[in-house]
Amino acid sequence: MGKAIFQPISKRSARRAVMSGRKDVSRRGFIRAAAGGAGVAALGGLAAAPKAAANGETAWDRECDVVVVGYGGAGATAAITAHDAGARVVILEKGGEGGGSTYYSGGFFVSPRDVAGAVDYLMDCARAGDGHHFDIDRDDLTAWAEEAVQNEPWFRSLGGDPFVSLRGWYADAPGADSYVTWQPRENPTGVGLWQVLSRAVEERGIEVVYNAPGERLVTREAADDGSPVEVLGIVAAGADGPVAIRADRAVVLTCGGFDYNETLKQSYLRSYPHYSTGHPGNTGDAIALAARAGAALWRLTGTSANLCHKLPDVPVAFPSQLQLNAMSLSVVLVNRQGRRFVNEALNYDAVAKSLDNFDAVGRAFQNNPCWCVFDEKTRVKAPAGLPVPIGNPVYQWSADNSAEIEKGWIVRADTVAELAGRMEIEPAVLEATISTYNEHCARGSDPDFGRALGLIPLDEPPYYALKGYPGLWATGGGPRIDRQAQVLDVAGRAVPRLYVAGSASSFCFSHLYPLSGTAIGDCFAMGRIAGRNASAQEGW
Ligand SMILES: Cc1cc2nc3c(=O)[nH]c(=O)nc-3n(C[C@H](O)[C@H](O)[C@H](O)COP(=O)(O)OP(=O)(O)OC[C@H]3O[C@@H](n4cnc5c(N)ncnc54)[C@H](O)[C@@H]3O)c2cc1C
Repeated sequence: MGKAIFQPISKRSARRAVMSGRKDVSRRGFIRAAAGGAGVAALGGLAAAPKAAANGETAWDRECDVVVVGYGGAGATAAITAHDAGARVVILEKGGEGGGSTYYSGGFFVSPRDVAGAVDYLMDCARAGDGHHFDIDRDDLTAWAEEAVQNEPWFRSLGGDPFVSLRGWYADAPGADSYVTWQPRENPTGVGLWQVLSRAVEERGIEVVYNAPGERLVTREAADDGSPVEVLGIVAAGADGPVAIRADRAVVLTCGGFDYNETLKQSYLRSYPHYSTGHPGNTGDAIALAARAGAALWRLTGTSANLCHKLPDVPVAFPSQLQLNAMSLSVVLVNRQGRRFVNEALNYDAVAKSLDNFDAVGRAFQNNPCWCVFDEKTRVKAPAGLPVPIGNPVYQWSADNSAEIEKGWIVRADTVAELAGRMEIEPAVLEATISTYNEHCARGSDPDFGRALGLIPLDEPPYYALKGYPGLWATGGGPRIDRQAQVLDVAGRAVPRLYVAGSASSFCFSHLYPLSGTAIGDCFAMGRIAGRNASAQEGW
């Protein structure tokens, strides 16, 4: 995430001051249609066929033009845009506070310098080899980039003051210099970014309803003429029962990814386990909600990934500072055989994805989990795990890792051989790995994996090892959408009045994460597109 993410920031209480007040939904009418509503996180929702028309049966409790489901970065963006276009907007948020993973984030957002360069860069990042590409279309990316170049001026128009912090990671790709990411200057974190967004929502008087998970779309049945299901509104869970909200123009799903849905992760991600470093509300609800409208799915294997550390009994995982800062630390990653398998100082997404290789003969992910092995000089430099949520850590990692060593979460030993024994690795293999790596450091080159940054030997005992797993900044896949952010059904038809934006269905990347800030840049671009198109619908 770059260095700014490590800066200390204010506590979560700081944002409460800029949030809308809590408004629980109360039920005001009888809803026959809600009786059969299913839990939205259930995998069974994926198989649901479009349901019969509910219009005639539904007594609406509320009415507005656009319902936005999920109050994170994409939801705030869609709501602001729809409101500014004249729509009456209601935001439903599952939890008691807004922000989602956007609030947890480093506050980076992509706003390219020019359209052509951004498209070239993103196409290059979507290469699958041998002339093939992943499921990404150049014209779609052009439409995306035309919108995304507006991210920086749009954020400025809300009162933000961003600065350019990074350029395309893959410097050899065309357009890498055009593909730039920004951060809020005053507070270069997700907290700073969220302050700008939530203040804009509040200033506009947009209603945010907390503790109100959207549970089921209300739809009009597909007609025999082959037209798709139409979305009329949504049923949310209220404080004393379900509440049906009529969306005169459209529903926008911005409920984040499926980072906390074990079944979906086990089925679709490229290795298991994957742990989330983000918001626990992200349980894949957009997938189950859109299934009712017959939505197709796409890019479910796509992620923006990190290497993370998972502590017992703490639900959220911690991005690895050992890896994020590997360019200046004496640390290597080894697999379950005790062998290195990657250039540890690559960008975090590239490193994390090298954990996904499956060994069919051994019937195991040999690199998942892996081990971060380091020595005393690295131990005292910084906490191995980056505390998240950044503004309100659920676990305060000790500055010199001593508490985690004490608890046995970080393994410690006086010699490499002894350390290997504790890791249940053949000592001779780990000794050979470390001594070869140290020779590379002395020579200043790493012929095995091409590591050029942070070739610092592990030569200061004691030695330490900490397990590392693939971590999720966010999953990327979800209901398939077109460049209008409109959901496509399994027959490829645009579903009237249903839009998705953000990590619920990332539009501009697939297997490879192109650069820090791409996910939130996508929230901004697709959130505005969704908000604009939703508000432009004729009322039904
Ligand atoms: C530690 C960390 C750092 C990161 N740093 C960056 C970064 O610097 N730049 C970047 O581009 N990306 C970053 N990412 C990824 C990025 O934060 C996410 O991809 C992005 O914020 C997703 O935004 P969103 O609006 O789609 O979802 P979120 O911000 O996660 O919001 C989704 C909201 O929907 C709510 N919700 C879920 N289901 C329902 C439902 N049924 N009804 C109502 N509400 C619901 C959730 O409770 C949540 O509040 C980071 C992620 C993490 C975890």
